Amino acid sequence: MRPYFMIDKELLTSYFTTNQNTYWPCSNGYLVINEDTFFSKETSVSQKVHPLYESDPESVRFVYSCIFRCSNNNCNEQFASSGHGCLDWDIEEDDYGMQQQVYSPCFEPYYFYPSLKIIDIPENVPDDITNQLNKSFELFFSSPSAAINHARSALELILNHFKIPKTTINNKNKRVKINLHNRIDKLAKQNSELKELLLAIKWIGNEGSHPEKRLTKNDVIDLYEILEHVLSELFENKSKTILAKAKKINKAKGIK
Ligand SMILES: [Zn+2]
Repeated sequence: MRPYFMIDKELLTSYFTTNQNTYWPCSNGYLVINEDTFFSKETSVSQKVHPLYESDPESVRFVYSCIFRCSNNNCNEQFASSGHGCLDWDIEEDDYGMQQQVYSPCFEPYYFYPSLKIIDIPENVPDDITNQLNKSFELFFSSPSAAINHARSALELILNHFKIPKTTINNKNKRVKINLHNRIDKLAKQNSELKELLLAIKWIGNEGSHPEKRLTKNDVIDLYEILEHVLSELFENKSKTILAKAKKINKAKGIK
């Protein structure tokens, strides 16, 4: 069972240090850096900009690579990761009780392979939808707008899965495309809550295709939260499963 019931926004948008656990999620645990796999180097621009480390710590930049593993030994998944870093400052007391500013490296991931399981995908979600979502998770850290585009494609695949038509014949007897909004209307016609959720995904999805809009990881997380709810509603209808079980028991007048 996944240890997180809500997506941890702060966690997924934060920097990490090599001496603290990250708690990034795997489906059965969290990510831990494998010993001796973490490497970082200062970038060439950074080396040129600040000739002396101490003189301008704010301008220091790094690149890193490392291999994380899942903290759960039964899972033991390995994740290759890379990204960039900078120096973060903190106030520490020295041996004489004097406060001083101390700089230490911190890192922001751009990439994980395999991708992090950012939301729960129910087991019976078809492969094409799952693949599209994994592509989205893969791009989450490096390109929020690309991550949103893949999530929007997943929404279209959900509509296809439920056999919502993509085209219709108009009053001039011509075959025309049905837009996403109207397809959502058709899928959720008896469920206004579901419709609200699907339309919100559509609106955020539209933003993903505007290159002038600077989308952030927080925007993508908003979309993931809604999507997680939709997937659970459409593919994990527990109440229906329980009802089917109850009907079976009633028909058999007891447990067989
Ligand atoms: Zn795991």
